[in-house]
Amino acid sequence: MLVLLAALVALSRLGFADWEHREADIMGTRITVELFHADPLIAAQAIEAVMQEMHRIDATMSPYLESSELARINRGAHRHAVKVSAELFALIDRSIGFSELTQGAFDITFASVGFLYDYRRGKRPDQAQLQAAAGLINYQNLVMDAEAHTIGFTRPGVRVDLGGIAKGYAVDRCISLLQAQGIRNALVTAGGDSRMIGDRWGRSWTIGIRDPRRKEGVVALLPLKDVAVSTSGDYERYFDDQGVRYHHIIDPKSGDSARELQSVTIIGPDATTTDALSTSVFVLGRERGMQLVNGLPDIDAILVDSKGRLHYSLGLQAAGNMDDYVKTSTETEPAENP
Ligand code: ADP
Ligand code: MG
Repeated sequence: MLVLLAALVALSRLGFADWEHREADIMGTRITVELFHADPLIAAQAIEAVMQEMHRIDATMSPYLESSELARINRGAHRHAVKVSAELFALIDRSIGFSELTQGAFDITFASVGFLYDYRRGKRPDQAQLQAAAGLINYQNLVMDAEAHTIGFTRPGVRVDLGGIAKGYAVDRCISLLQAQGIRNALVTAGGDSRMIGDRWGRSWTIGIRDPRRKEGVVALLPLKDVAVSTSGDYERYFDDQGVRYHHIIDPKSGDSARELQSVTIIGPDATTTDALSTSVFVLGRERGMQLVNGLPDIDAILVDSKGRLHYSLGLQAAGNMDDYVKTSTETEPAENP
């Protein structure tokens, strides 16, 4: 064993070390990790640590697991303040910060109505149910006690769900773990949320933005380094009913799916931010969404509107930037949109 180890280390010093790659299904989505370390043992341990962390966050924040902290809040917080971990308290607090920043477009209490949708079965709330739920979606229904680390609801019927931010948060946590282990080149992806550190053999990573209306199609390729990127689309979880698409991004004002855009990609320094903002901008729509993005430092966006047209934030439009930053794929036909 020792001999083998020594041989591996020697090989890696000679430049034979390769990139490690692993995929798994956790948090209801596809997790991908790619990383480089000259020592393959450290690389393998690092990948294992990432998968463990994804499982840990899922166990804490899943709305589907009865045993999760999040489920505990939803069961009890309308009756009494529920004590939660510092970690969950902080993420809910950050979510409320995004509600304030986006004038309520991002709101984890969307779940008060969101649970009435079943995208697999094509189920949605009717008018009466939507009316009965009026007022439940409002982050101001959350009572946060920062000292006691408790969360309460102002009334029964309120529910929270971190689906719009937890994957980005998990990606950030994993990147921190990797950095602490001395990894300098890595990509971590959870569904539509990715973050990369360093580069790949001296080159950028290439992230493709999916064509919202053609499964294998790509509308843009982004060469990226040392950033986070998140995409929210209306094509991940949805059903169509009489020509109307019902999907998983809910406008808190109506309790109905947001329909001004088909996809939103946000580029920024960390994945918690890009995740929350991709969901937010999807709800805000083209004009208000772009206005928000252009007013934030270090944040850029690429939107696909309801006709399939692309829109870029000012940072990406800046002279000379676009040509090396955003390239429409030549491998696929132009998007076909009504
Ligand atoms: P995904 O990567 O799961 O496609 P997105 O980042 O696109 O996620 O966010 C969609 C998820 O966010 C939904 O599945 C739901 O859990 C949650 N969500 C939906 N509407 C809102 C909203 N207005 N504010 C906050 N979270 C939302
Ligand atoms: Mg999001």
